[in-house]
Amino acid sequence: MILKIALDTPLRRVFDYLPPEKPHPNPLKAGVRVRVPFGRRQLIGVLVGIADDSALPDGKLKVALEILDSDPVFDTVTLELLCWAADYYHHAIGEVIAAALPAALRAGELAEERVELWSLSEAGLHQYRAQAQRLGPRQRALLTALALHGPATLGLLGVACRRAQLAQLAKRGWAVANVETPQPVRVVQRPSEVTLTPEQARAVDAIRDSHGRFAAHLLYGVTGSGKTEVYLRTIAGVLDNGGQALVLVPEIALTPQLVERFRQRFSAGIVVLHSGLAATLRRDAWRSAHRGLARIIIGTRSAVFTSMPHLKLIVVDEEHDASYKQHEGFRYSARDLAVWRAQRAKIPIVLGSATPSLETLDNAAQGRYAKWLLPQRPGAARPPRTGLVDLRKHACEQGLSRPALEAIGRHLHAGGQAIVFLNRRGYAPALFCNACGWVAACAHCDARMTLHRRAGQLRCHHCGAVAAVPSACANCALPLSPVGQGTERVEETLARLFPGAGLARLDRDTTAGRGAMEALLHRVHSGTARILVGTQMLTKGHHFPDVSLVLILDADQGLFASDFRATERLAQTIIQVAGRAGRGERPGEVIIQTAFPEHPLLTRLITAGYEGFAEIALEERRAAEWPPYSRLAMLRAEARSESQLDQFLTSAAACGARLADSAIQVLGPAQALIARRADHYRAHVLIEAPARRALKRFLTQWLPAVEALPAPSGIRWSVDVDPLEID
Ligand SMILES: [Zn+2]
Ligand SMILES: [Zn+2]
Repeated sequence: MILKIALDTPLRRVFDYLPPEKPHPNPLKAGVRVRVPFGRRQLIGVLVGIADDSALPDGKLKVALEILDSDPVFDTVTLELLCWAADYYHHAIGEVIAAALPAALRAGELAEERVELWSLSEAGLHQYRAQAQRLGPRQRALLTALALHGPATLGLLGVACRRAQLAQLAKRGWAVANVETPQPVRVVQRPSEVTLTPEQARAVDAIRDSHGRFAAHLLYGVTGSGKTEVYLRTIAGVLDNGGQALVLVPEIALTPQLVERFRQRFSAGIVVLHSGLAATLRRDAWRSAHRGLARIIIGTRSAVFTSMPHLKLIVVDEEHDASYKQHEGFRYSARDLAVWRAQRAKIPIVLGSATPSLETLDNAAQGRYAKWLLPQRPGAARPPRTGLVDLRKHACEQGLSRPALEAIGRHLHAGGQAIVFLNRRGYAPALFCNACGWVAACAHCDARMTLHRRAGQLRCHHCGAVAAVPSACANCALPLSPVGQGTERVEETLARLFPGAGLARLDRDTTAGRGAMEALLHRVHSGTARILVGTQMLTKGHHFPDVSLVLILDADQGLFASDFRATERLAQTIIQVAGRAGRGERPGEVIIQTAFPEHPLLTRLITAGYEGFAEIALEERRAAEWPPYSRLAMLRAEARSESQLDQFLTSAAACGARLADSAIQVLGPAQALIARRADHYRAHVLIEAPARRALKRFLTQWLPAVEALPAPSGIRWSVDVDPLEID
C-alpha cells in the first residue's frame, strides 16, 4: 500500500510514502493528516489517495511516521474541490490544501479537540426571545452572544464573555456547556417584516424547489431590490432541513450591513470568516463549520474551501466583484470554485448582483443558469436620471465642468448630498515642468509619481516608493506644476467653490486609520459633510439615503484601455456608483463627464441600462473571441535583467508554439502595462484556447516544459488561469 500525500511545498506533485509501521486502528481514508519525514525535517501533510504501487523503487520509499486523524479533516466534496482546484489552476496541491487549513491544524493540533462549547438551553432561548425577566446589560449581552454564536468556544463568543459569568447563567438554567459531542444547534428565525414582491417570491420558490440538486440561479437586481431578503428566505429553508449554508461576500469590512441583517434574522450558528481573523478564532470557526455546528458561514473568498459536511446552499453576493479572484500565489476564482462545489455537492447556488459579470450573463443566456430579475421594490425611489457632459464643449475647473458644478449647487440648495467619483487618489497624478517637460518619475518603476500634497510627498502607487516633493525642476530649476486631478485635489477645489457644504473624502488614504472609515461615514450620514469625494471604495455596499446627485468625473479611463474587460468594469462601476443616488425620498441624478459622449458602449449604457450594455459587449467579445467565448491563461514573469526576462519568455513562447495545435494561440511575449515595477521588468505570454478542456490539455504539456527551461535564478514566473486582468 502506497500513501499519496500532499505536502506544503511549491512542487506541483504528491509524495509517495509507505504506511506507518504501527498499524492504525481505523481504515485509512483520504483527507486524514499524516506526519512524514521530509529531508531532514518532519512535515504534516494530507493523504489524498492510496495506490498499489509507486514510480519510486522500493528502497527509495520512506515510511510515514504517524496518522493524526481517524476521520478526514475535510468533508468529501471539499477535499475533491481542493484537488480539482490545484489541478485546474496548475498550482502545487500541497500549498492549496495547506492554505485551506487553519495554522493550528497544519501544526498538528487535533481537528476535533474536546473543547468546552457554550450554548443556550431551552429556558435560556425562551428568556432571550421573550425577555421575560429584567436583566442587567451584561447578562443581556451574554444571552445575545450565546444566541448568535452558540454553541461556541469562549473565544468565538467574544472577548467580553468571561467563564464565571457564563457559569452564573448555567446556574440559572439558561446556558449549558457541552464538552462532549454537542447538540445540533437550534436556529430560531425571527419572522420577516417584509412582504415579498411577486418577483422575489418566484425566485425564492425556484431556489427552494432546486433543493437537493445542482442548479445555478442568477439573482439580478439593483441595490434596494431585495436580494438579501431572497438569500435570507432560501437559507431559512435550508436550516429547516438541517443543512448548512455558505454565503460568500467580497469584503467583510465593507458589508457590515449584510452581516447585521443575518444576525438579526437568525438566532444562532452564524460564523464570519475573513483574513483579518485571529488564528485561534479562525481555528474555532473552522472546527465549528467542520463539525456541522455552525449553520451559516459568511466569509470572503477563501471561505469557499471551508469544510461543511451538511452544506445545502451557496450564495455568492456581488458575484461580479474582482476580489473573488486571488491575484497572487494561488490565483483562483472563488466564484467559479463555488459553482464547481455546488455542482459536485448537488446543491443550488445563488449568484447575486446588480451588474452581473458578462460570463454569468452568458451562462444565463445559454440556459445554464436560471435568471431571476428583481425590479426595484414598489415605493422605492425611481431610478436616477442619467446624463452625459461633453468635456470637449465645456470648460473645466480642475476637472469639474460647468454643468457639473451647477448641478452640485442645485442639489445642495435643494437639501441633497452629492457624490463625486474619481478612481484616482492623491492630489495630482503627475508633477510636471512646463518649461522643459520634465516629469517626476519613480526611480524603481516605469511610472510617474503621484503628488500627495497634504502629506507633502511624492508616492509611487505601483511600488510604494516615497520621495520628497522637489522644490523646482531637476533639469532647469524652474517651478513645477501638478497636472491632472486626484481625489485630494478635487476635494480641495470643491471646498473652495462650495464653502460651508462640508467635504468628506473616501479613499485608501483617508480610511487607513482605525475607526477612520466609521468616522467619515458618520459625517456623511449626519449631514455634516454634504459632498463626498471618493474612489472605487464608494461602490461597495454603502447606503446614503440623502445623496441625490452622483457625478462621475472621468469615464474615459476605461473606454480605451488595452484590457478587454475594461469596459465591463467601467459599466459596472458607473451603475454601482449611480446606485448610490436617489435611494431615499429624493429623485436622483447621475452626471457622467466624458470626452467621447458618442462612444457606443457609453450611450448604450445610458439608454438601455446595464443589460443593454451587456448585450453589445458580449457581441463584441464573441466577434473578438475573448472570454466567455474562449479561455485564457497567462504566464507572467519578472526579472531584474530585461534581457534575461526576454530570453526566458521567448523560449517559453517558442516551446508553447511547438506544442500548440491549430486551436491554441500563443501570444507574446509582451511587456506589462507597467513594464518595470519595483526594479523588476515584467512581461507575459498569453494563451488563448477555444474551450476549457483544450486549454487544460495544452497547459498540462506546456508548463512542465517551461519548468524544464534553463531559467536564470533571477526569473520569477507564475501561471494565471482565467486571468481577470491582462496587462
Ligand atoms: Zn524643467
Ligand atoms: Zn515605483
